[in-house]
Amino acid sequence: MIESMKGNKGEDIYNRTGIMASSISENRYLKYCLVCANEDKKEYGELFWHRVHQIPCLQICPKHKTLLLDSEVLVHSGNKHEFIGATNENCCITGGNINNSISYQQKVLDRMIVLANNVEKLLKNKYSNRPLNWFQEQYVTKLKEMGLVNINGKVKYKELLNSFIEYHGKEFLELGYNKEITSQFSEK
Ligand SMILES: [Zn+2]
Repeated sequence: MIESMKGNKGEDIYNRTGIMASSISENRYLKYCLVCANEDKKEYGELFWHRVHQIPCLQICPKHKTLLLDSEVLVHSGNKHEFIGATNENCCITGGNINNSISYQQKVLDRMIVLANNVEKLLKNKYSNRPLNWFQEQYVTKLKEMGLVNINGKVKYKELLNSFIEYHGKEFLELGYNKEITSQFSEK
C-alpha cells in the first residue's frame, strides 16, 4: 500500500484499497467544518484541511458535531501536482455556503454522529494488522449471536440486509451510496 502511494501510478492505490470497486460516492470538493476553521484561524492564524473531514460519507465534524461543508476546491483538480491550501475565500468561512441549508432528521443526524465518532477512533488509534479471516470470524460470531446464521453455518442474507437497513435507516444509507444499492437490498 505504502509502495503504491510512493509510486507514480496514482490509480494503483485506488485499486488496492478497493475504492475503484466501491459504490461509496467520492467527495467532489474538499470539505471543512466552519467551527474548526474559525478555531484554526484563531489558534494558528490560518486554515488547513483536516484529514478526518475528507472521509467519503462523513457528513459531520467529530469534534463539533456540526455538518461539514464543501469548499470550492475540487478533490480531483486538472493538475494533480497542484496543492491548494484552505483559505477564507475557498472555504467561505463567512458562511452562506449552499449546504448550510440542508437539514436532516434527528435520527439521521444521530447515525452520522456515530459514524463520525467511529471514523475518528479508527484514524486516531493504532490497531494491529489482522488477516482477513480474523475479520470474517468476528463477523460470523456476531451474526450467530444475533441469530442471523443457519444451523449449517450459512449467513441468512435476506434477514441480515433487512435488519441492516432497519438499523441504519434508508435515508442515512442513501447519503453515501448510490440509491440502486439500497433498492437492491430491499428487493432481495
Ligand atoms: Zn469541527
